[in-house]
Amino acid sequence: MSQSEKFYITTPIYYVNDRPHIGHLYTTIAADVLARFQRLRRVDVFFLTGTDENSQKNVEAAAKHGYKNIQEYLDVMAATWQSTFSDLQMSNNAFIRTTEKRHRVAVEKFWALVKDRGDIYLGEYEGMYCTGCEGFKLEGDLVDGLCPLHKKAPDKIKEKNYFFRLSAYRDRLLEHIDNHPEFIQPITRRNEVRSYIEKFMEDVSISRDVSSLRCGIPVPGDDSQVIYVWFDALINYLTGVGFGSDEATFVRYWPADVHLVGKDIIKFHCALWPAMLMSAGLSLPKQIFAHGFFTIDGEKMSKSLGNVIDPLEVVKKYGQDPLRFFLLKEITFGEDGDFSLKRLQDRYQGDLGNELGNLVHRTLSMTEKYQAGQVLKGKNTNEQNLLKDEWSRYEQAVLKLDFGGALEIIWEMLRWSNKYIDEKKPWVIAKEQPDLIPEILFNLLERLRHVAWLLKPFMPETSAKMFEQLGIADHEAQKTYEQAQIWGGFPENATIVKGEPLFPRLEE
Ligand SMILES: [Zn+2]
Repeated sequence: MSQSEKFYITTPIYYVNDRPHIGHLYTTIAADVLARFQRLRRVDVFFLTGTDENSQKNVEAAAKHGYKNIQEYLDVMAATWQSTFSDLQMSNNAFIRTTEKRHRVAVEKFWALVKDRGDIYLGEYEGMYCTGCEGFKLEGDLVDGLCPLHKKAPDKIKEKNYFFRLSAYRDRLLEHIDNHPEFIQPITRRNEVRSYIEKFMEDVSISRDVSSLRCGIPVPGDDSQVIYVWFDALINYLTGVGFGSDEATFVRYWPADVHLVGKDIIKFHCALWPAMLMSAGLSLPKQIFAHGFFTIDGEKMSKSLGNVIDPLEVVKKYGQDPLRFFLLKEITFGEDGDFSLKRLQDRYQGDLGNELGNLVHRTLSMTEKYQAGQVLKGKNTNEQNLLKDEWSRYEQAVLKLDFGGALEIIWEMLRWSNKYIDEKKPWVIAKEQPDLIPEILFNLLERLRHVAWLLKPFMPETSAKMFEQLGIADHEAQKTYEQAQIWGGFPENATIVKGEPLFPRLEE
């Protein structure tokens, strides 16, 4: 990989009407893994996340919490989100808030481009609007007159609005989707979006009367209207890399390589957003990847059921790496799944404690016992060329966002090593043919070195601890991603530093 390759990844920006829950963290962790993986390959990464602050939902939440000044509430909540992400060591390069001045500047610039193209016109909107979705609704979207997601009747609206000529982009968009199979992923989502665009993509209202909204960015040149929150929110992906404020950064990173989104907002991202960009004369993101939702013990996560999981609580008990591992291994990325603290506990003890933690512990104990903690190279080690296939399958899996698949490859390696110990019985060999021990131990230690590398994006703390305990933290820090993959790279005469178990047994 050349130094100049870049990778721009985004999460959705989050509403600040509540604290982050585990679902928000899921998307952000996935983005973090990709960002860390690309950095490992020395790619120049820009990872953006942030908060969507021009939403009526936030206004309602501010009132509910007794704030008279909405901006004050937004500041408090945005700080909560930022500190949660930094406590969980998310490696985002920037955090965008849509109430920032630079964002307003970007939105105004974007609006002007679309207007100059002749794609904004004044019309009369008569219809329904769900504040929960921040979206306009058609009869066909409702179930028994209610928004199926929010179980509330949408507001009836009749007012003068600005419209965006979305329908003008239908054919170009379909053509783009057909010519770029990677554009919308997974493929099931692509089919869903494609048929939506074909059947339903009509011009959309992109502003609201100022009297009906108490927040948002005013329409340039018409203070009686504010810009529709989605039209403003999507532009954050441009603002975040300097659109309207830092041209050089913008040119460097746009278009985004991946927008990670939840499946509920895919239409905004795959229909409205690319059409907006086409109208403004900007390139389209290379990929929009929609992940699924998960239930909690089979139930929808909701406040009324009291099953909302605070990621910080989980991390306090298990640590952040077990949570990262669990979310990405247990739930196939791109599909729906289920989260259960019981299964997290099982995987903590099994996959992490027994298969990984014990393997490290056993290997280091034997190195202490048979070689006084010194690493010796056995015969033939440099002539082999092992694990090439594992690295390449791992890389393919991560690039496809098949995080579970990538972790499975690592766990295959761990299971191989555990079996190798059970079969070789080093404690017997140490008595009968002690000259074979260095090679056996080297095979195990060298595999752990590879595992520590492969775990870096997924479990950064664990990976760092493994390098420390293997006694090669400084040595490996000098290596490139390509050098790390060469079999036999464990330095001879390194001294291991056996430490605490990686995943200690927890009290019930
Ligand atoms: Zn709704």
